[in-house]
Amino acid sequence: MGETIFSKIIRKEIPADIVFESENVLAFKDINPQAPVHILIIPKIEIRRISDLDMKKHGYLLTEIFDVANKLAKDFQISEEGYRLVFNCGSNGGQEVEYLHLHLLGGRQMKWPPG
Ligand code: AMP
Repeated sequence: MGETIFSKIIRKEIPADIVFESENVLAFKDINPQAPVHILIIPKIEIRRISDLDMKKHGYLLTEIFDVANKLAKDFQISEEGYRLVFNCGSNGGQEVEYLHLHLLGGRQMKWPPG
């Protein structure tokens, strides 16, 4: 797969505001936040998009990604009021960076339907 900016963030070749790191997962603040809290949570192994996931192989990663999202929601004090978790998939899904990432958005009232 082609190199993306997120691979460089994992390798610490470019700076990011990292808020969580484990053996399998990295979370950092979105550079162009769409809400008062906007964090991206990514696996450390390269997976392009949600449709490339093989749950038998990658299920543990999804579990950790969602656990980290819920932990960070508590850490950033948006858990009680609520928040939004988003995976964009492919061009119609609005995915710009071809490296699987979960958006954690909160701190304001979300709207529906999304744009
Ligand atoms: P998506 O449209 O779902 O692919 O989201 C990609 C997200 O990555 C966007 O919200 C961008 O603002 C964010 N982004 C791009 N480059 C960086 C970066 N260097 N550090 C943090 N976030 C970034």
